[in-house]
Amino acid sequence: MEKIAIFWFRRDLRLTDNAGLYYALKSGYKVLPIFIFDTNILDKLEDKDDARVTFIYAQIAKLKATLEQMGSSLKVFNTNPLEAFKTLSTTYSIAEIYTNHDYERYAIERDLEVKKWLNSNGIAFYSYKDQCIFEKEEILSNTQTPYTIFTPYSRKWKEKLNDFYLKAYPVEKYTNAFLKIDKLPLFDFESLGFIKSEVKIPKEQVDLEIVKKYTENRNFPSIIGTSRLSIHLRFGTLSIRYLAKIALKNNETWLNELIWRDFYMNIIFHFPHVCEGKSFRKEYDRIEWRNNPEEFEKWCSGKTGYPIVDAGMRELKETGFMHNRVRMIVASFLTKHLLIDWRWGEAYFAKKLLDFDFAANNGGWQWASGSGCDAAPYFRVFNPRLQTEKFDKNLIYIKKWVPEINSFEYPNPIVDHDFARKRVLEVYKKALSPN
Ligand code: FAD
Repeated sequence: MEKIAIFWFRRDLRLTDNAGLYYALKSGYKVLPIFIFDTNILDKLEDKDDARVTFIYAQIAKLKATLEQMGSSLKVFNTNPLEAFKTLSTTYSIAEIYTNHDYERYAIERDLEVKKWLNSNGIAFYSYKDQCIFEKEEILSNTQTPYTIFTPYSRKWKEKLNDFYLKAYPVEKYTNAFLKIDKLPLFDFESLGFIKSEVKIPKEQVDLEIVKKYTENRNFPSIIGTSRLSIHLRFGTLSIRYLAKIALKNNETWLNELIWRDFYMNIIFHFPHVCEGKSFRKEYDRIEWRNNPEEFEKWCSGKTGYPIVDAGMRELKETGFMHNRVRMIVASFLTKHLLIDWRWGEAYFAKKLLDFDFAANNGGWQWASGSGCDAAPYFRVFNPRLQTEKFDKNLIYIKKWVPEINSFEYPNPIVDHDFARKRVLEVYKKALSPN
């Protein structure tokens, strides 16, 4: 039997500028691409109409069709990864597996387990940097330690950047190396145990006008002033190198946002305690949260009586997206006004966000609660009214999501702002002062 290589798609669902795929195609073996709907992940998803599963399935079907036009195909599994590789090894003679790095805790453990099994069966496992520009030890301070503050990190990031790091991997030149096979079957979407979601996915295209005006418009949730590409960065339907090149040429503020993404990936890599549910700053784990379940439920369903908070939470529930400015407001509100553990909010966002990414989400929540690296100082408590005056003065965003704002139906504020501010400062102070 002819020996082959396998390329394993994960957070990199594209056939262009894909590092691991490029190296697989250049390996000298014919390459069979695969994708695994990982039951370890799917089994944990509570919403049966989870829009991310619908999105991934559609993307997989698209990849498969494109590969079939090239005379190859895509082998798709619905199982746990180790089982998938055991099955593959009984059907094919496999020399090597190629994939791209994933820095999340589960992914690291999964890859170690898979690698161990493959290696003990004489199969090599190669993984590459693909989802960020700089990883691991590439950006370190002058004392060779990882940065925990964004500004110096981003300065170093920009100093180090050159064409080499932005160069696209020319996958298209090597497509002859895909294994030529008959079309492989693909199971129905329904057999994954999910139902199709109707949620609309933002387009996979960069709107240059938005990028150019990003600095002026990015803070106003009533306009589309941000790229809405986060889901495509999350699943790798667009390449970070491609986007960073556009950012570099057109708008430094937008480039900084892409650097925040690298920064948080760097944080979870170097400080794995944040992946275990711990605060980045350990003293923040002494905070005595109120954790009132009814208040949490009101926050989730957009019924706190604070219009900007409610608008954001309703937008999230309905569309799977929330504007960054509003994410900061609702996260500050949950942790500071309601004194609910940021981990509750983190988990709710993880369930609902189309762009859910552990590193960015954990980073955002710890930033808002004050417990993170380079976080907002704990005494900074966003005032939802002032935030509204600054960023949604004419209530356009709010009225879109909270049309009943001026009616009797709309609830009174769940808590008084001044009272909540005083309360959180006392509780935080008690936890954070040494004795
Ligand atoms: P743009 O403003 O156009 O930015 C371009 C890209 O840069 C984004 O698509 C994203 O990949 C990246 N980016 C932007 N801001 C950040 C940031 N602060 N941290 C890391 N990357 C960033 N982003 C996620 O991708 N997934 C999450 O799960 C997530 N959870 C968040 C939770 C909280 C509490 C907060 C405050 C922020 C969170 N963010 C998260 C960051 C940010 O809100 C989103 O990336 C952004 O709103 C996505 O919209 P966009 O694509 O229009 O972004």
